[in-house]
Amino acid sequence: LVRLRERLARSNSALGQGLLALLSRDTLDEATWEEVEETLLLADIGFEPTTRIVDALRERVKVLGTRDPEHLRGMLKDELLAAIGTDVDRSLTIERQVGPAGERPAVVMVVGVNGTGKTTTVGKIARMLVAQDKDVVLGAADTFRAAAAEQLATWGERVGVPTVRSDRDGADPAAVAFDAVKQGIEAEVDVVLIDTAGRLQNKVGLMDELGKVKRVVERHGPVDEVLLVLDATTGQNGLRQAAVFSEVVDVTGIVLTKLDGTAKGGIVVAVQRSLGVPVKLVGLGEGADDLAPFEPEAFVDALLS
Ligand code: GDP
Repeated sequence: LVRLRERLARSNSALGQGLLALLSRDTLDEATWEEVEETLLLADIGFEPTTRIVDALRERVKVLGTRDPEHLRGMLKDELLAAIGTDVDRSLTIERQVGPAGERPAVVMVVGVNGTGKTTTVGKIARMLVAQDKDVVLGAADTFRAAAAEQLATWGERVGVPTVRSDRDGADPAAVAFDAVKQGIEAEVDVVLIDTAGRLQNKVGLMDELGKVKRVVERHGPVDEVLLVLDATTGQNGLRQAAVFSEVVDVTGIVLTKLDGTAKGGIVVAVQRSLGVPVKLVGLGEGADDLAPFEPEAFVDALLS
């Protein structure tokens, strides 16, 4: 939590402080409320949630007539938490599963636009699983660039798990993913993590490819998680790109990366609203341990600290 606060504090341009200063003004007139709205919008919270939060705050301030900063902070926290959702299931399916053919590994596909931090996230998740004493196999299904498979294999070595890859460029990504799951089943591992390609230039090709990877993997059994990696610093533009992926594969969770950078934390609210999928993990740096489960309460505290 301390680390989250430190990292977010670097980037959040004191959203909470700004809001509290506004709300503590002597007169909460129309202009002040507009500033509150602007502050939330600038934090990437998105239009609809911002309107909702401001309306709720206005109503509560009017009814309660309170101007006590602690009380205002509590209200703001409540409204932000309500916008993020506290009763959402953010757990990851990362245990061995029981299927018709007996036990099998959990299969996790990681998708997203190139450059968002997909491969790094696969490495970090592998590290997290290894720390939980789980056996993991990585699948390098981004076969378009040799460098991508190489990068994943390097992560594999770093965290001590094997990587299944093709030894030639342009191999069929679905075949590599299929092999990774096959090896995972044979080795009785807990989780197979599949890294995929994310070239958005060719949207139709990408859709075909990702859909195919998933279908082919499903010959072994269900895909348990499809995690969409989204770079928090890309704001609304990133949201539009992410929407393309959620059209192709049923995304089960979002990993929001680079929250340690210049990102504005409000994107957490916007992304869940626009994709209808919970943020499950957050990336807070480039290192192997810079990944954390998303915890709304700690996150909002960090935003308002
Ligand atoms: P991919 O193309 O989506 O697989 O992206 P990569 O995993 O290669 O990451 C792209 C860049 O983003 C690399 O320089 C990573 O180190 C960096 N990166 C990934 N996740 C994070 C994060 O949470 N915070 C920061 N600051 N950088 C990150």
